[in-house]
Amino acid sequence: MKRKLFIWAQIVIAAALFGLVTANVLERLPEKEEKAKYIFLLIGDGMGATHVAATESYLSYKAGQLGGEKLLMTQFPCYGTASSYSYDKPITCSSAAATAIACGEKAYNGTVGLNGKGENTKSVAYDLQEEGYNIGIITDVPINHATPAGFYAHCKRRNDYYDISIQIPETGFGFFAGAGFSSFLGKDNSQEPTDAYLERNGYTVSYGQEEFKVESQGKDKMVFCQASNRREDAENYVSDAKMEEDATLAQMIELGLEYYGTDEPFFFMCEGGTIDWAGHDNRTMSMVEKVLDFDAAVKVAYDFYLQHPDETLVIVTADHETGGITIGCDGSKSLDWATLEKQWIESGRKNVLNDEENSALNTECGIGWTTSSHTGGHVPVYAIGKGAERFMGRMDNTDIKGKILNR
Ligand SMILES: [Zn+2]
Repeated sequence: MKRKLFIWAQIVIAAALFGLVTANVLERLPEKEEKAKYIFLLIGDGMGATHVAATESYLSYKAGQLGGEKLLMTQFPCYGTASSYSYDKPITCSSAAATAIACGEKAYNGTVGLNGKGENTKSVAYDLQEEGYNIGIITDVPINHATPAGFYAHCKRRNDYYDISIQIPETGFGFFAGAGFSSFLGKDNSQEPTDAYLERNGYTVSYGQEEFKVESQGKDKMVFCQASNRREDAENYVSDAKMEEDATLAQMIELGLEYYGTDEPFFFMCEGGTIDWAGHDNRTMSMVEKVLDFDAAVKVAYDFYLQHPDETLVIVTADHETGGITIGCDGSKSLDWATLEKQWIESGRKNVLNDEENSALNTECGIGWTTSSHTGGHVPVYAIGKGAERFMGRMDNTDIKGKILNR
């Protein structure tokens, strides 16, 4: 009996000591770091690690070297890699990937802002809005396309563009920018024009940079669209500025920065959507051009970070890889950027080859493409600034929301 009591006493003392020690350790743990005041999340749609490497290979060729030239994003100090599979497929579509990144939950391919059970998910943009952040949704493709939509909308079918557009007033987000809108007049071209609907519901829709600068004075809910897509469907390779008033992705971010200023915190989601489109078409030089455009947009965020280094977080990632691009194909160990570039420049930087001719040119020049769709490869994650270390190492795309919110 005495022995049993002795053992019990030992257990009680041990438990008490454990409690003390644990309390002590917890007390000494640093408090969770405050979030960055300014957050940029840049998503290169379809930009796998090899798209990035191929673009650097092209830059190295331009510098007369085999390698060594670097994009800005790849020089960020924190690097990770994210898996991208969706709720129902090993290979994701853009809307499921956007939902996973924005909302932290896997989604069925083809759906926007819904989890595997079909329930509405909550985008990180809404969490940050509740915390007082101004929100900017920016893309060089239509504002109602899959990636931007994943950050503000809920829809069973990603191609129900009009249904996505008319959810914009419910968001209360102050700044949307993009090429314009797909399905501008809705089903059968018979519904209220998208800009009219948005204007009737509290937004000002401006076409082109100058118009935006004038009309945004004193306004708190703005939509920027390319001047060349005035009151019509935006469906083309729209970052190819057709009019002077059109904006590149970098310029759209600058418009957003000017519009919001730095008094209040902000979160900008910025999508380079045309990388994916070039990937679907297996157009090597177009892809390179789009990655360079995207890196120029990264530079706007980076320059802002340099001005506010203690308060800014910049994250760059992709939603999936598109095209299954390889550097080297058919046993070749050489690349012929000169021929690829020559064809591209001579054709006015446009896709003039048919698919067969294009495929032959790629193979001849040592660039392989394995699919006209997406692949399931991991995507890169680059980060710099306050809290950037959270984006190092292996992660899943559903981890990104929590890392942004530092939860
Ligand atoms: Zn995508």
